[in-house]
Amino acid sequence: MSQTAIYPGSFDPVTYGHIDLIKRASKIFENIIVAVANNTQKKTLFSARERMALLKKATQGIKGVTVENFDGLVIEFARRRGSNVLIRGLRMISDFEFEFQMALTNRRLDEEVETVFLMPSEGYSYLSSTLIKEAASLGADIRSFVPDFVAERLKEKLKNKSLGTRR
Ligand code: ADP
Repeated sequence: MSQTAIYPGSFDPVTYGHIDLIKRASKIFENIIVAVANNTQKKTLFSARERMALLKKATQGIKGVTVENFDGLVIEFARRRGSNVLIRGLRMISDFEFEFQMALTNRRLDEEVETVFLMPSEGYSYLSSTLIKEAASLGADIRSFVPDFVAERLKEKLKNKSLGTRR
């Protein structure tokens, strides 16, 4: 039986939705490894190193949580860490189709792997990193969606990015 669960994702950047899920998972599993994908299909605003640093700070006080990054297949990363449990979040019905496909693909790749779905508190069920980045770029106050230090980093990042494109 696996005492370690892997929570993979892009976390670009970490939100209160991710944190809510990590807290729930930490009540079920002794160890949670938050696994930050180095190269995701999505183009990320933050580098893997930055995404990890924000996650580490955000999960500091949660027992049994570590943050790592990985390349390639998540099931191989899980195997290397001696885990056969993947945690994923389901916010809305709209997450279901993609998550269902991914879970079954991972199971086909490794029969031993189980994906465990957790639902966030309903207050976070509409939160996504993509929406937060968009809202922040339009000048919205996003402090109720992400920790203050994430909001600050996001503001700086977007400012540097717009300076970069103007040059
Ligand atoms: P990915 O690019 O792999 O989907 P994300 O960082 O967007 O990575 O999400 C990682 C996991 O966390 C996914 O399973 C996603 O459904 C879940 N998740 C993201 N935001 C929330 C939220 N607000 N509440 C619950 N789960 C969430």
